[in-house]
Amino acid sequence: MPARTGEQFVEALNASRRDIRIHGERLTRDVGRHPAFRNLVRAYAALYDLQHDPDHRDLLTYPSPTSGEPVGMSFLQPRSAEDLTRRSRMMKLWADCSFGFLGRTGDYLNSALMAMAAAADWFGQVEPAYAENVRRYYEHVREHDLLLTHTLINPQSNRSRSPAGQRDPYQAAAIVGETDAGIVIRGARMLATIGPIADEILVLPSTVLQARPEDEPYSYAFAVPCDTPGLRFLCRESLDYGRSHFDHPLGSRFDEMDAVAIFDDVLVPYERCFMIRHPELLTRGRLYAETGALVHMAHQVVLRDLAKTEFVLGLVSLITDAIQIEGFQHVQEKIAEVINVREILAAAVRAAEADADVDEWGLFTPAWMPLNMARNWFPRTYPRLKEIVWQLAASGLFGLPTEADARGESGPDVDRFLQCATLDGIDRVRLFRLAWDASASAFAGRQGVYEFFFFGDPVRMAQAEVAGYDRRPAMERVRDFLYSDAPVAAPPGRTAVVPGGARP
Ligand SMILES: Cc1cc2nc3c(=O)[nH]c(=O)nc-3n(C[C@H](O)[C@H](O)[C@H](O)COP(=O)(O)OP(=O)(O)OC[C@H]3O[C@@H](n4cnc5c(N)ncnc54)[C@H](O)[C@@H]3O)c2cc1C
Repeated sequence: MPARTGEQFVEALNASRRDIRIHGERLTRDVGRHPAFRNLVRAYAALYDLQHDPDHRDLLTYPSPTSGEPVGMSFLQPRSAEDLTRRSRMMKLWADCSFGFLGRTGDYLNSALMAMAAAADWFGQVEPAYAENVRRYYEHVREHDLLLTHTLINPQSNRSRSPAGQRDPYQAAAIVGETDAGIVIRGARMLATIGPIADEILVLPSTVLQARPEDEPYSYAFAVPCDTPGLRFLCRESLDYGRSHFDHPLGSRFDEMDAVAIFDDVLVPYERCFMIRHPELLTRGRLYAETGALVHMAHQVVLRDLAKTEFVLGLVSLITDAIQIEGFQHVQEKIAEVINVREILAAAVRAAEADADVDEWGLFTPAWMPLNMARNWFPRTYPRLKEIVWQLAASGLFGLPTEADARGESGPDVDRFLQCATLDGIDRVRLFRLAWDASASAFAGRQGVYEFFFFGDPVRMAQAEVAGYDRRPAMERVRDFLYSDAPVAAPPGRTAVVPGGARP
């Protein structure tokens, strides 16, 4: 099947028999019809439909190397600058469609999988069958245009101990046995965003595993369908309250459900295993870094961050215009902050693409550091973007009747008392409800935490950034200057003359 339509996506989801626990209910089918999921499913379906839209299909698809049929562009293994640009345009277009509020559109994990497939020999270093499994799986997902979720984290219980050292050694999902057909997994993994509506779940190694023998049962990388027997998803409370797009413009469209994935002795066929029991390889993020999956995921994520910042720029500009506060200097300063975030992200993408090069697996790959900078910086910047919306919209975020009041008996009050410089009452309420949903609603709260932990714990990401950054040239130059009598520092690459001969 080539790139699928929205209808094909929805039909497959509703027909699939899975185990979803939500609000005390157990759903086994028709997940796409449930109030917690139906709007999200509509949003995802609309993105799949764009793949068939004559105005967008050339940008969103390319001919499959095996069937010649159009398949999703995010599966394209880039071999040239042109390929990379095609991927980039595709990912930005999808991100723009949700203003970046959808974080798990298919292109995110498709990017990881296409890189893992190109680097299949990394998996094959342990056993050739693993390389073949990764390649075959990538083709399967590409040719069926499947939607993936993923889970990397062990449940929070006692973080000062390894998963094996917990009170219950099967709280964190572990290999509990093997049969002729595959491995058996028991325990839980956190946190499968969109798990309930995805086709497949990628279960990849936690970056915090140590390479100790006791970590062996927790070391694996595999993928199974979300309707695999024994697999269930325990959902959080839905933040789509069934309200209109007027009342909850974002929450009524883009609430990507998060769920704990519970493996109740799930059989994972060997052909779905990409590696098992090699903690020395499946640790400290080696899989993501060494296969190139991380950089291609980061490319998608930073494009999404850019789309989100462009949304905030549009939003704050509409607010400042609506209540005519743009003339105040501190307001301009805040708008300038948003512009700067937008420009830094755009520059990071551009630098990463301009400095792209062929990696060891033959993929034309964006430069790492601009994307690494952006993925470390954005989680700490996003709270500031929300704060700027609060500061500019102020009480307007809460002096906000709902659509029922705005269109009902209180309509005249809304028109009279909530009008503003450039908008009548109802349109001003409409705009400020969007600002509220982006910055102060439950949906906005979840988005804030999501962005903060999007790529993992920012503290440990910063540690990794420092560890991986070559600071020696900078240190050398400063040290040379310390011992130099020259009127200026030596040009880069030249060592200054050190007074009195040898340098300490
Ligand atoms: C809304 C949301 C959606 C998510 N969706 C997904 C998903 O789809 N797939 C997925 O795999 N994951 C997902 N995650 C999980 C995300 O990857 C993790 O939140 C992130 O990696 C941090 O891990 P943790 O939540 O277990 O925090 P913990 O590791 O438990 O950290 C809690 C606190 O303790 C500190 N801490 C703990 N251990 C250490 C240590 N060794 N050194 C220093 N500090 C430490 C941390 O800095 C942090 O402040 C999601 C998270 C959120 C919030």
